[in-house]
Amino acid sequence: MPMTLLDGKQIAADIRAELRQELDTLRLSGRRAPKLGIVIVGENPASVTYVNNKMRACAEVGIEAERIALSDQISEQELLEVVRRLNDDSSIDGFIVQLPLPSHINEATVLSAIDYRKDVDGLTPANVGRTVQGQPAIVSATPRGIRELLSRYHIPTAGKHVVVIGRSNIVGKPVAMLLMQRPYLSLPGMSAASLGDATVTICHSRTQDLPAITRTADIIIVAAGCPGLLTADMVRQGATVIDVGINRIDDPDSPRGYRLVGDVDFQNVAPLCNYITPVPGGVGPMTIVSLLQNTLQAYKNHIS
Ligand code: NAD
Repeated sequence: MPMTLLDGKQIAADIRAELRQELDTLRLSGRRAPKLGIVIVGENPASVTYVNNKMRACAEVGIEAERIALSDQISEQELLEVVRRLNDDSSIDGFIVQLPLPSHINEATVLSAIDYRKDVDGLTPANVGRTVQGQPAIVSATPRGIRELLSRYHIPTAGKHVVVIGRSNIVGKPVAMLLMQRPYLSLPGMSAASLGDATVTICHSRTQDLPAITRTADIIIVAAGCPGLLTADMVRQGATVIDVGINRIDDPDSPRGYRLVGDVDFQNVAPLCNYITPVPGGVGPMTIVSLLQNTLQAYKNHIS
């Protein structure tokens, strides 16, 4: 089977068009637009770029977005006050707190304070717990995007061996949970009925003999933040590889002085694969569009 590139950029554009159509229909029936709040603390350049991309994506589909920009000197208590205000603000359907936060603020404390019904990043303990238990939940954006990408390319996960490299709370753990669920978990509006039911192995920095494990995988999801981690000798012929990594590496030939690469040695791994995501243009755009889908989900729950 020839290799197919999983074009997250195109799929995300398709989903944005579908969302725009749905939101146009809602507007024509007299409904207000959904509204997303985006809290950003400080001016971390990568965070500023992510927030700008999210604001632009909202505008494109007709979701109202409000940026709440806060000083990096803000105390944890003051930030918790902002979170409480957003929880109580009935004009806001969902909101996110852009990570990372400055080191003097405890991220877990802040995330835990978000009302899970407005938690469109799906990072609160309530949404994670609900996901684990198979209850309706807002699923965190990157795992939701990965599931959607697999679904749109008709790549089944049932009975397949999925190896996840990375055990973070935002990617590794939730994507493992999602893909091992029985498919009845699928969420309203989610075209994921054939997904789930995978046999999942989670690997991390202390895993021994990672190549021996990845070579048994039908699907490898790499979220380690380690350029070139997944090499050709770790992948069996016909595998599907999802590269979540976003790493900046110096590139004097690029006008920006750097370029973005994933965690996969793409050039040598791609020829072995049936399916593989590029970086950029694979998982990244799917993450942003998942945030839009989650916002619409929160809006529907809010107004119903
Ligand atoms: P993280 O940085 O919190 O943790 C990395 C994980 O990888 C850890 O669990 C660690 O044990 C594991 N790991 C690191 N080196 C390893 C190695 N050599 N072998 C095996 N395991 C190893 O993870 P994160 O926040 O999930 O981010 C991972 C990467 O994904 C980063 O590059 C990040 O920028 C990117 N990311 C991309 C998106 C997207 O939308 N595409 C979203 C979130 C994160």
